Amino acid sequence: ETASSRPLRVDNLTVRFGGITALSAVSFDIAPGTVHALIGPNGAGKSTCINVLGGAYRATEGAVHYGEHKLTDLRPHRIADLGVARTFQNISLSLELTVEDNLLTGRHRLMRGGVLGAGLRLPGTRREEREHRAQVGRVAELLGIEHLLQREVHTLSYGDRKRVELGRALCAEPTLLLLDEPVAGMNHGESQDMAATIAAVQRELGISILLVEHDMPFVMGLAERITVLDFGKCIADGTPDEVRRDPEVVRAYLGT
Ligand code: ADP
Ligand code: MG
Repeated sequence: ETASSRPLRVDNLTVRFGGITALSAVSFDIAPGTVHALIGPNGAGKSTCINVLGGAYRATEGAVHYGEHKLTDLRPHRIADLGVARTFQNISLSLELTVEDNLLTGRHRLMRGGVLGAGLRLPGTRREEREHRAQVGRVAELLGIEHLLQREVHTLSYGDRKRVELGRALCAEPTLLLLDEPVAGMNHGESQDMAATIAAVQRELGISILLVEHDMPFVMGLAERITVLDFGKCIADGTPDEVRRDPEVVRAYLGT
């Protein structure tokens, strides 16, 4: 089993918070190297699903497997070590740090000497630091933000911050990338740029992507398969064409 050949299997996943059922027996598979979208209205359970996959939330019932690894038994840092990286619906960058330093934090799990070693300039860490900066540069180039590397994040536009948030996840060299609403709050032009960027990332790196979005037209051109959630339940699963024509999706999701 190589990392990039692992399928993700979500099997009967249920998550309850007290009296609230955020996810109710949800199942779907992501084939290796594909983009899978998880869509649904606000409160449908999309972020909860990402939080379980990344280990931040516990499953109440059901399981998630990544290849042979049962993610629902693992702590977040072990899941990260398996090559799972995520972005946050609400951007979680350090505003006072430069773009480059924010991207470097994405590489922490790959730093042999650890962050402490890099800070203390231990022998051997100079070369390692150069390699990390080179890798950060490659990610910045892929995302078209290399001209912003020395800027502090608080000086950036919202759209550029969303790119840096994506970049930080990519700096961890993931095999499975979880994107929580990458175009939320963007205007149409910025959304289209982001769609092209995500498509380029997928083509270039061949990784698996779980794309969580509220915006249905946005995922149509990107995802090979789509799972539709409504009130925590899976109401449809299929290709974009199948989902678009599904009467229950039209009724429940589009509200028409
Ligand atoms: P979405 O991302 O699709 O908008 P969420 O997964 O954020 O939906 O939320 C699904 C439901 O679970 C909502 O009713 C939300 O209030 C609830 N929920 C999510 N996280 C928590 C939490 N940590 N504690 C309590 N309720 C939560
Ligand atoms: Mg959400």
